[in-house]
Amino acid sequence: MFDSLTSRLTSALSSLRSRGRIKASDLDEIVAEIKAALIDSDVALEVANDFSETIKERSLAVLEQVNKSTNPSQGIFEIVNTELTQILGGQTRRIRMAKRAPTVIMLTGLQGAGKTSLAGKLALYLKNQGNTPLLVASDLQRPNAVNQLQQVGTSVGVPVFAPEPGNGVGDPVKVAKAGKKFAEDKLYNFVIIDTAGRLGVDQELMQQAVRIRDAISPDEILFVVDAMVGQDAVRTAEAFLTGVGFDGVVLTKLDGDARGGAALSIVSRTGRPIMFAATGEKPTDFDLFHPDRMASRILGLGDVATLAEQATAAIDPELSKKFEEKFASGDDFTLIDFLSQLQASKKMGSMSKMLGMLPGMNSGAMKKQLDNLNDGELVRTEAIIQSMTPAERGDVKILNGTRRARIANGSGRQVSEVNNLVDRFTAAQKMMRQMRNGGGMPPGMPSIPGMPVLPKLNKVAPSKKKSRSGNPAKRALESE
Ligand code: GDP
Repeated sequence: MFDSLTSRLTSALSSLRSRGRIKASDLDEIVAEIKAALIDSDVALEVANDFSETIKERSLAVLEQVNKSTNPSQGIFEIVNTELTQILGGQTRRIRMAKRAPTVIMLTGLQGAGKTSLAGKLALYLKNQGNTPLLVASDLQRPNAVNQLQQVGTSVGVPVFAPEPGNGVGDPVKVAKAGKKFAEDKLYNFVIIDTAGRLGVDQELMQQAVRIRDAISPDEILFVVDAMVGQDAVRTAEAFLTGVGFDGVVLTKLDGDARGGAALSIVSRTGRPIMFAATGEKPTDFDLFHPDRMASRILGLGDVATLAEQATAAIDPELSKKFEEKFASGDDFTLIDFLSQLQASKKMGSMSKMLGMLPGMNSGAMKKQLDNLNDGELVRTEAIIQSMTPAERGDVKILNGTRRARIANGSGRQVSEVNNLVDRFTAAQKMMRQMRNGGGMPPGMPSIPGMPVLPKLNKVAPSKKKSRSGNPAKRALESE
């Protein structure tokens, strides 16, 4: 998503940076390029027009204001960033909780938009925040929808209220009402209602959604839309807005190779915020939508805030503490520790998705490298370590040829891969020792997939050779 937009916007803006003084005619050229890039990304024409007009007006003002000797490209970059954030919705919009539980969320959208998967993702997201969601199967139309929701519920550990078999049998309005009542009685604090979609917008679909809406008075109606369908997504959203009404948009399949037009047009065209984004098929491929972070990604600045949040969520504080203590006490980092780090980093999701959030990673050559990055390597590394005995994981020095051959055999890998892992691990272990002794990061740091998350260095035990203060009072304190 957004790949080509990112590369065109960053190249337009960096050409501005290299121009020294910027004239109004330079600005025209850049604004025309920005507009063309938006249109090529399938952004609605009026949205692209308005956007480029605003950029032009605000940038001209910057050009007039700044001292002639200053390069105003940074100011223009900031304007593009602010305006991108604006068309993506400005502020992050979170779920509004009902004054009295349960908070009722109704999902609407076309068939295939990813509504049922989304129900599971949203339920897991709410559950992880300490809520008690209930899923309600009111899509009684699509073959197998009830079953699918039940499977989704099981996979995320959230109960599903499904009194009807579906496949055309049962009344979706009754089910929605009964589901809400069940949640009230059983004290669930969120109810997520999956409703039927159609292949295209039609009156029957709208009427059913309206009847469900009127029967349960949802606190939030979320319109789920597949971002891959570009401008069609915007047209469907407009039809749903008129027919049923909704409070927020959920964009799914943002991991696909669509050009991003839906994300960039939908807020201006519907006046509704994008609240969540789904970026894959796994229940965890889902997050709140932050317009500023998305703008930052589009401009090649990465999304360090999300990366940091994911790292914090994935790393078990107990485990981190154990590592810190181990590191400070001078014990060696072993493959046993490495395996638990590897498992923690797997929880953070795909390596290429994670690295893609770093500044500059989603453009040009870096992007190609990222695409080549193989998440399978994590799995293979894990398999190799799991085929070792505890003693071998604790001390790789005992790994002779026979043992290495056995491990390769057990994990279905080549001996050369086992050798490679052991070599890189030994180098990393050496590096950790060096760091502990105050040597800093050596050049050419070896890379292992799922490289250990280093303990905080400020907790490192003081080096034995630490210099002592020349001030007698301080020295007395130091020796306490
Ligand atoms: P529904 O008909 O709206 O309930 O759609 P489903 O939830 O059954 O999703 C349709 C298909 O899209 C399924 O194969 C999902 O696995 C897939 N899907 C849903 N969300 C995403 C997403 O964010 N990314 C990708 N790549 N696939 C998705």
